[in-house]
Amino acid sequence: MESREGEARVAMVPELVGKLTGLGYDVAVEPGAGLPALIADEEYTAAGAHLDAAALEDADVVVSVQPLSVDRIRRMRRGATALSFLPTNQEQATVVELRDAGITAHAVELIPRISRAQSMDGLSSQALVSGYRCAIVAAGLLRRFFPLNMTAAGTVQAAEVVVLGAGVAGLQAIATSKRLGAIVRAYDVRAAAAEEIRSMGAKSIDLDLDTLEGAGGYAREMTEDRAARQRELLTPFIAAADALITTAAVPGRAAPMLVTREMVEQMKPGSVVVDLAAETGGNVEGSVAGEVVRIGNAQVWGGRNVPSQMPGPASKLYAQNIVNLVTLMTASDTDDEGNRSSRFAPDFEDEIVASSCVTRDGVIVHEPTRQAIEGTPEPPAAEPDVPDETEGSAPPLGAADEQLDLPYDQEAGQ
Ligand code: NAD
Repeated sequence: MESREGEARVAMVPELVGKLTGLGYDVAVEPGAGLPALIADEEYTAAGAHLDAAALEDADVVVSVQPLSVDRIRRMRRGATALSFLPTNQEQATVVELRDAGITAHAVELIPRISRAQSMDGLSSQALVSGYRCAIVAAGLLRRFFPLNMTAAGTVQAAEVVVLGAGVAGLQAIATSKRLGAIVRAYDVRAAAAEEIRSMGAKSIDLDLDTLEGAGGYAREMTEDRAARQRELLTPFIAAADALITTAAVPGRAAPMLVTREMVEQMKPGSVVVDLAAETGGNVEGSVAGEVVRIGNAQVWGGRNVPSQMPGPASKLYAQNIVNLVTLMTASDTDDEGNRSSRFAPDFEDEIVASSCVTRDGVIVHEPTRQAIEGTPEPPAAEPDVPDETEGSAPPLGAADEQLDLPYDQEAGQ
């Protein structure tokens, strides 16, 4: 059962229980674990799992979506394995607990992006769900058609959608917006993205700027000069859009600020902005994770745990990633009589197993995390600055913030 508030996904679905029992595992599910994803306990038992509220205490392997809570980690057996998302930068206290409890913890987001690992890549599977959801949210908030409509009563033009960031989520947002009939333009800093954008039937925005390829197929961080130039060149595209969807990210960094408040204020009345990166700093200045705010005459939707907003399919895809990871970590033996048996025995020589491991045998084995937690202590910090009295207060409304009283503003909440 997921312990983080607002998490509706579940790490195993009934359809896939048979894959684990087929490998020889005994699958225990905490009662009610699937309910937020609309999966009843009986579906798990019918699939061959059993219900056990104390399953955690005896388990060799515990799978979850979010990192385990401290209380749960302390109830686990030393030497057991935990598989989950584990953003080590934000979860240092959890990593320390996992280390001290002697748990072998693997972080799904540390699985390397090599072709052999694609089927285990939880970041990609959940980004796909997020990208779809972003396009549907934009279409739902926008009080006009996405597609062109030619009727006896006249023609209604298609909506214009701009997507910034064309990774897994962005490409899915593009594909979904296209399927709904919108005219889609998209921009990404990676050179390879232009062709991928066009292959989805969208127009690639060419800003005539240097491309920024980083390691492992990811983007590199922009300099502030380039960021300012990118914002300037993107302004007319955003001003012309009915809906803007932003999905840009740079691994290990706060989300890049692509769109300022002033840029949003130039959008037409009734425009919609969907910022998938709102939780990690935001691609859009002023977006708030989990809320719809008004900036100028646009509604700005900030994503918060977006995959969890479609918990059924997100859980199914994540559970498949987990099954593939557990399968990789399972060894088969054949005895003298030719009987085959299998056991959970991760091969730490394997790149996927080794790279994703954060703690093992009471040690933090992921070096960047170990350094961040146990590294040489920093010299004492300088005296903190006297806080600015205006800090944290609402930004002043500019002239362009004189808001129309639009009849269709979305209530806060998602
Ligand atoms: P991500 O979530 O880290 O970033 C999303 C997108 O934002 C990326 O496309 C990035 O280029 C873009 N971006 C960053 N800064 C930007 C800026 N200033 N302006 C505009 N866009 C900006 O990336 P992702 O979706 O996880 O995928 C990135 C790449 O990795 C893609 O090419 C994807 O196909 C590839 N990938 C490979 C594998 C694999 O081989 N196993 C798995 C998943 C993704």
